[in-house]
Amino acid sequence: AKEAGRNNIRVFKSEMNAQVTERLNLQTRLRRAVDQGDFELVYQPQIDLLTGSVVGLEALLRWRLETGEWVPPDAFIPIAEETGLIVPIGEWVLINACQQNYHWQRAGFPAVPVGVNLSARQFSDPELLDRVRRVLSQTGLDGSMLEVELTESAFMHNVEEGINTLNALKELGARLAVDDFGTGYSNLSYLKRFPVDLLKIDQSFVRDITTDPGDAAITQAVISLGHSLNLKVIAEGVETLEQHEFLRKHACDQLQGYYFSPPLLARDVPAVIRQQGWA
Ligand code: C2E
Ligand code: CA
Ligand code: CA
Ligand code: CA
Repeated sequence: AKEAGRNNIRVFKSEMNAQVTERLNLQTRLRRAVDQGDFELVYQPQIDLLTGSVVGLEALLRWRLETGEWVPPDAFIPIAEETGLIVPIGEWVLINACQQNYHWQRAGFPAVPVGVNLSARQFSDPELLDRVRRVLSQTGLDGSMLEVELTESAFMHNVEEGINTLNALKELGARLAVDDFGTGYSNLSYLKRFPVDLLKIDQSFVRDITTDPGDAAITQAVISLGHSLNLKVIAEGVETLEQHEFLRKHACDQLQGYYFSPPLLARDVPAVIRQQGWA
């Protein structure tokens, strides 16, 4: 038994080393990716449930490797957060999302806001507001064409600061969405105090909405909570007609998911919107 225990420790240690090495490796490669700009934004349409037209495009980050492979954000955002690399990456995202949207506004199509995800660290960065102001003025994009997506945990760090930052973003014309709603902080009183426009029901609730009574109940509750506070509610991760039907029956405002469209390359966005008749 003793022998086995020792072996376990050895195995555990070498796994740890492998993990540490892998993390360092990832960190180095991520730093290089920042310098070389090996990122790309893809855009996922958000559809108004009643009119069936596109009302927004969420910008989602991809890291493009030399091999042509794409790394999804969940594989590198946490490390980018820990190392602070999220700040330059986030700035790149903001600039590119606003630039792209400005081009679409100039072209007259699609005339909808762009949703940008901000992580906790970006949101608590004291330079965030200056950054956003600068990007809007440099790109020429109207602030009302920017929607900021934040998780509950991102603005619960420092409530007073958070409120000030959100109010300042609102003054720039931006819309504010609570991302992954219901998965994080449970004290809902912030909803009264924070100038939020939109609740995003997390896909973990939407997934089993038609089979799991608990998920169905939570989703219905979020929709009525949102509406009673005068907020719009959007469901993410909508993949099936059945989910769509459920959400329509319960008066959800907007939908986003593979049922409508995967995230798209920027160059494909106008054509897909036209072909699908979403505008
Ligand atoms: P999120 O903001 O909750 O984004 C929704 C995720 O669900 C996206 O994954 C999207 O591609 C995926 N998705 C869309 N429709 C469906 C569907 O019908 N079914 C399923 N199963 N999934 C669907 P993605 O693009 O891999 O992004 C993962 C997370 O990474 C995002 O979650 C967001 O938290 C973060 N992220 C993405 N881009 C950025 C960024 O530019 N900055 C920051 N800070 N975080 C980002
Ligand atoms: Ca999001
Ligand atoms: Ca989510
Ligand atoms: Ca998320």
